[in-house]
Amino acid sequence: MIDKPMSGIRSAWVEIDHQQLLTNFELINQDSPAHLKKLCVVKDQAYGHGGVVIAKAARDAGYDYLAVETIDEAIELRDAQIELPILIFGEVSDAEFAACLAYRITCCVNDIDKARRFNALCLAQGINHTVHIEIDSGMSRWGVRWSDAIPVIEYIARECDGLVLEGMMSHFAMSDEADKTYANLQHSRFVEVIEALEQTDITIPLIHMSNTGGLLDLPHAHFNMIRSGILHLGVYPSLVCKRIEGLKPIMSVKAQIPALRQLQVGDCVGYGMHFTASTPMQIAILPIGYGDGYPRVRNEGYVLIHGQQCPVVGGNAMDAMMVDVSHLDNVSIGDEVVLMGGQGDEWIDPRDLVKWKKTVCYEILTGWRARLPRRYV
Ligand SMILES: *Cc1c(COP(=O)(O)O)cnc(C)c1O
Repeated sequence: MIDKPMSGIRSAWVEIDHQQLLTNFELINQDSPAHLKKLCVVKDQAYGHGGVVIAKAARDAGYDYLAVETIDEAIELRDAQIELPILIFGEVSDAEFAACLAYRITCCVNDIDKARRFNALCLAQGINHTVHIEIDSGMSRWGVRWSDAIPVIEYIARECDGLVLEGMMSHFAMSDEADKTYANLQHSRFVEVIEALEQTDITIPLIHMSNTGGLLDLPHAHFNMIRSGILHLGVYPSLVCKRIEGLKPIMSVKAQIPALRQLQVGDCVGYGMHFTASTPMQIAILPIGYGDGYPRVRNEGYVLIHGQQCPVVGGNAMDAMMVDVSHLDNVSIGDEVVLMGGQGDEWIDPRDLVKWKKTVCYEILTGWRARLPRRYV
């Protein structure tokens, strides 16, 4: 019988700095009001960092709640023996609701029809199940429109003995920019619902609206719980939101050089003939490409080798890219390459990749594909 080869030994990988993760959680805790409850958003494998690892660290840092986007993500956390309450954002189907009951996963119920069906399922099983309601305060995404919310809340609270309305949430379309006009309009719509509820006998224990942008910049929108996903990863949602001293990105992307090549004048590099050598030069071939989540660039961007910037030459491929190492002494096969993160005195920030990929830092973090093994150091 042939032994199965070890997985995760590929010479390109994502590295997560676990110590810095713990530091980031500590700094955020010190910076946040003591009685504020905190929900840690670990959707999409905690933006590519590993959902279970980040969820366990959040639990150990005293976070009160976890949130994911899909039922499979929630079940993965339960299967890893994580017992914190878990909220699923968005809408769940009837089939997913049955799984929510089995795994004790909180979900959102945002309309009367669904509340009626989910309540019937709970009563049939003799279960009381915790739910939240999402108020759409101006994103036109999930939830019930703020102006239509009260009847739905009253229905769930008064008519659904099988449902426990534990939370009410809303979500900002723009909380991290300097201009808070729209965020404040959304806030005031959400507060309208809260004030209308105060005229009734209904109380909802958890009220939450703020993502990282709100946590940092909108203290009046903290209510009694915040939901942050990107901050503890050491990355800020924008260039202008408040900073927490000492917070640093925990994700790096690294590789080892598998091949070097000498170019002669006139040699072309890569698909599409985007680069032609005008002098003799040495390039390194790297075992990573846009199929791993690196931006699809053309003579743009750089990596770090021996602590120095090495520009990308030509167009990168799905699985490979070429960088100019002519200015380095003694570069060898096996040398470490940093595609995101630090080496020596140099640092490639997720924001540098944001420029090269013309996107936002959320997509840079989540964009590193699963075929890059995750190494925790
Ligand atoms: C993703 C998400 C968050 C977390 O946003 P960050 O900017 O990463 O803190 C919070 N709430 C909802 C509803 C989300 O979908």
